[in-house]
Amino acid sequence: MRAESIGLIADVLGKSDTYGFNRLLHDHTSYSQVAVFPDRSQNSYTRKSYQSGTTRFETECQRAGICIDCVKEDIDSLGFSYWRRDHRYVKVCAKHNTVLLRKCPICGSDISRHSRGYGHELLWAGCKGRFFHQYESEKNYDEEKLAFARIFAEIGESEVAIDLECVLAHLADEATILWDTGYITQEHLNAVHRWLDRSKRISDTGWDYRPDFIYSQEIIDTIAVVHGSFAGLLDSLRRKGITVRSVDDLMRVEHPDRFRY
Ligand SMILES: [Zn+2]
Ligand SMILES: [Zn+2]
Repeated sequence: MRAESIGLIADVLGKSDTYGFNRLLHDHTSYSQVAVFPDRSQNSYTRKSYQSGTTRFETECQRAGICIDCVKEDIDSLGFSYWRRDHRYVKVCAKHNTVLLRKCPICGSDISRHSRGYGHELLWAGCKGRFFHQYESEKNYDEEKLAFARIFAEIGESEVAIDLECVLAHLADEATILWDTGYITQEHLNAVHRWLDRSKRISDTGWDYRPDFIYSQEIIDTIAVVHGSFAGLLDSLRRKGITVRSVDDLMRVEHPDRFRY
């Protein structure tokens, strides 16, 4: 899914302005994972002028996943099911705490190779006359996987953006306090510092965005250790008086590079 395809969808929806394009990116692609952490100097939603470009915003390298409980709920409420953005990037469903499937429960083959078009038809056409919603989900018992999935979902739905530099400095300070008071070990603190260092690439505009990099992975791991949730991080930042910005406001601003070519 490249920028030009998203632009085409925006056109079909009658939302081909900058705001409409950015809204699609935020609500339907993993780009929200970097857009929520803008560079301090960044006044537009995207790091580059992407609107007519070839940058990939989703890729089949990140394999699609299925939560059987989400499918059951969709069938009950809508009559059909749909693929979830987040389920490509996490191992469990943030809503149902179930293990996501990457293989067909009926024949056992990889969903992405199940049939033409990366097996996307499987959700609607089923396999050998059977369907996902006729199977039972498997409960997840790994707390870390659940915390990761929940924070990933919170970031994807966030309507506020926090300057990356502020978040990284804040998380480093809070981790030091946790270490000082004996809540985390020296080893854990060292890991947090490594994760925060790697998270600086979120604002690296030297490269086109690539969804398979999962830029937010380490910042999510740190948020999980320090605050337990993205909401917890936001509360803590607000208590410190650190201002957050509106994602909606950033979306309305054209990237300054747009007319440079
Ligand atoms: Zn689910
Ligand atoms: Zn199958």
